[in-house]
Amino acid sequence: MALQQRAVCINLHDSHTEHESGVIHHDDRGKHKYVSPLLHSQSQSLIQPADVDSDFIQPIEWNPSYLNDIDAVIFDCDGVLWQEDTLVADADKTLDRLLKQGKTILFCSNNSGKSRKSYIEKLKKTNLLSADSSIDERYFYSSSYASAHYLLYEASVNNKGNDVNAFDPANEAAFTVGGSGIGEELRTLGFQHVIEANTYVGTKHLSRSELINLPLPRINDKDVGAVIVGIDDTFTYTKCSIATTLLTSNHRTSHDITSNQASNGSSNNASRNKEVIFISTNQDRTLPTPGHILPGGGSIVHMISISSGRKPVNVGKPEPYMLQLAMSEHKISDSSRVLMVGDRLDTDILFGNNSGCKTLLVTESGINRRDDIAKENIYPTYVAKTVADLCKS
Ligand SMILES: [Mg+2]
Repeated sequence: MALQQRAVCINLHDSHTEHESGVIHHDDRGKHKYVSPLLHSQSQSLIQPADVDSDFIQPIEWNPSYLNDIDAVIFDCDGVLWQEDTLVADADKTLDRLLKQGKTILFCSNNSGKSRKSYIEKLKKTNLLSADSSIDERYFYSSSYASAHYLLYEASVNNKGNDVNAFDPANEAAFTVGGSGIGEELRTLGFQHVIEANTYVGTKHLSRSELINLPLPRINDKDVGAVIVGIDDTFTYTKCSIATTLLTSNHRTSHDITSNQASNGSSNNASRNKEVIFISTNQDRTLPTPGHILPGGGSIVHMISISSGRKPVNVGKPEPYMLQLAMSEHKISDSSRVLMVGDRLDTDILFGNNSGCKTLLVTESGINRRDDIAKENIYPTYVAKTVADLCKS
């Protein structure tokens, strides 16, 4: 049965507008923006503009025959493949069957605490993937990788010389608040000047006078040009203070050509202040665990956002950045033949809907239940109990 394109709920975190070069993301002050890098060299049809349909279609009960219309399946992990350290029953069989059917399988997580390599090791260690599987870190998309990739994009813009606010990796450092995965991905992508709050101050609590007198973090004589924030189990007022100081300082300067000088063809180096780039790995409000609701990465991001008065570029779900990245790197051009499987409506399902994918909500292994669909007004294409329902033997 041909399925109608799922209606898309407009996400409230950023405003997105179409542009001839792709999707532009604005922050709340309209000062920072990016055109999705993947759209520079890829087909403009890669990401379809959001269709807004006021008559939401109720989700369809999943049937394995629908896989005939699917080329690639993207899995959220926690609440879909596992719950904390417990695997969802038959998740391993599902992955194996999909691979045998020739489907591309990808993984996508808002968790920035670990690197992609660490996650693939977990998938193999838990036998969700066989130890000799050809699936490696290239098939795993984490928000730590996405944030590092976004900074790479900022650097590429810088090399083109058309964005005076862009990041200069040779002369600027990145400061990270979060797990080790962010720094690890930055270094893997070639960034040499990385300062991790966890090693810079660790869990130390500095007094107010110590904070006031603390010099701005530097490494290899390089000033910080970007701050990346994700979930941090040892987050402190001290870390927040350092990030806030960096984001509100005017220490970054650029040498660019003023508009008049440009029109005259002259190239006078004019120094001007530019803002430190602010990236969030995700804006998840909570981190649900069995029996407890813990603060999510978004709670830390928002604390720094409030204190600094700055709004970050968010690369995590439900923003489409990671999905665009995955589709581009795996040469998937038709988003309507991609199935996003998740347990959370406001991240996974919105993420897939925003990019024109088909979406499947698993309702018995993770956060959201069927009743939540109408409450949250976010409609997946399909529903199923667990990932075990995805394909038959
Ligand atoms: Mg999940």
